[in-house]
Amino acid sequence: MEVKRLGTGHWGTNTYVLYGKTPGECVVIDPAGDTPVTDFIAQNGLRCTHILLTHTHFDHIMGVAALKAATGALVCAHAIDAPGLHDPAVSLAKMAWCTIEPCEADVVLQDGDTVEAAGFALHVLHTPGHTAGGVCYVLEEPEKVIFSGDTLFYRSVGRSDLAYGDEKALLSSVNDRLFTLEGDYAVYPGHGPATSLAAERLNNPFSYQRGRTQ
Ligand SMILES: [Zn+2]
Ligand SMILES: [Zn+2]
Repeated sequence: MEVKRLGTGHWGTNTYVLYGKTPGECVVIDPAGDTPVTDFIAQNGLRCTHILLTHTHFDHIMGVAALKAATGALVCAHAIDAPGLHDPAVSLAKMAWCTIEPCEADVVLQDGDTVEAAGFALHVLHTPGHTAGGVCYVLEEPEKVIFSGDTLFYRSVGRSDLAYGDEKALLSSVNDRLFTLEGDYAVYPGHGPATSLAAERLNNPFSYQRGRTQ
């Protein structure tokens, strides 16, 4: 199993390519800009079957329409955030003065769903707070991995002061939904470096368990 991080665009958003299970297939998480992703998957002889969105803020979806057009991949987003794919008020594209080619979600997700893609089973964990329809994708096999979007970062959490944000919901998502998962996971956030769930439980300033010895 491979996770390739492509730092894309002016906004420093992480795009991830997940592959190495079904030969020749990959999943792209949050295609923030089309060029690096398109180049990477072509160079590695991969075909993108699914585009998974952690949420639909403009900086995470700028490359969705182009990647979908180039590959025919299915676009997956939580029901509450899915309108952001074509509504610049929801994606905040309007606020950021950027234009995004509109598209639609092919698969509308709910909490507890599992997306079977490129040989992986990605569990959908609804983690509202940064946006109302934000999700984390949790992988148990072959490795324990969380794609945490803008919910959980290395030693930080996402903003909750933007439209549709909710601080109480965000802290609950981080502490009651993510930190209660059993064992350790590699965490790949929407911005910044990778981390681990165990390290964040102990060291994240927003963790209720911070500083507690195990
Ligand atoms: Zn965001
Ligand atoms: Zn972001």
